Formats: sequence, structure tokens, C-alpha cells
Amino acid sequence: MQQQANAIVQTLKARGLRVTPQRFAVYANLLSRADHPTVEQILTDLNKDFPVSSQATIYSSLQALREVGLVREVLLEEGVSRYDAKVEPHHHFCCRQCGAIEDIAWNNFQCIELKNLRPGLRGETYEVTVQGLCDRCIVE
Ligand SMILES: [Zn+2]
Ligand SMILES: [Zn+2]
Repeated sequence: MQQQANAIVQTLKARGLRVTPQRFAVYANLLSRADHPTVEQILTDLNKDFPVSSQATIYSSLQALREVGLVREVLLEEGVSRYDAKVEPHHHFCCRQCGAIEDIAWNNFQCIELKNLRPGLRGETYEVTVQGLCDRCIVE
């Protein structure tokens, strides 16, 4: 645990971020989960042992972490920002019933050819979102 805490502090410092308790807590929280939480969900979680956190504090910590590339924003539903500490390219599966989101490894969909775009467009990146039902929601 202590070792993990040191690793987080080192990561933040290596990106030139001042280590504040809030940034530390937000990043540690995101690293510990894979469910792509919203600001509200992070707040609920942190308030268990960090009762002074406000949504604005969490939001500004997230912005700082995003600016240095440690966290990314994931927009899968209109108007809902979710956050992900997994910044390497990957795709998402989104359950249309319960809203669960999980990562899909990048090389599961390698077949998309950006050069198939019409002439004049220059594709740079893409990401697949698969909508469907997760195992818990499939009623046998
Ligand atoms: Zn589901
Ligand atoms: Zn993800």
C-alpha cells in the first residue's frame, strides 16, 4: 500500500504536477477502479475518508491530471463525462441496460482502416464503443 502510494507520488512528480492530497486521492481512486466513474461517483467514494472534498475540488484535480496525460475523459453518453486512468488506446463496451462500462483491448478491433475515409479527410484516431448487454443483464 505504502509502495503504491510512493509510486503515485512519483508519477505525479514526474509529470511536473505538485502533489496535493486531492490530486493524490483522485488519481489513486481512478487507478483502483475500472468502471469509468463520473465526478459524482468519485466524490461519493472519496468522501468516505476525505470528507472535505467537493465536486469543484475533484473537478480541478481531474483537469490537472488530464492536462499532463494521466487521466482521460470518456464521453460515452451525451452530456456525461466519465474518467479513466487507463490512457493507452482502448475501446469500450457499454451495457444499454445497467450502464456498466468496461474496457476492450485495443487489438480486438484492429481492422478499421482510416485510409478508407473519403479523399480530403485525414483521420488521426478512432475508438470503438460497442453497445449491448453485459452478462448480468442477459436474461437466459
Ligand atoms: Zn448490464
Ligand atoms: Zn476505458
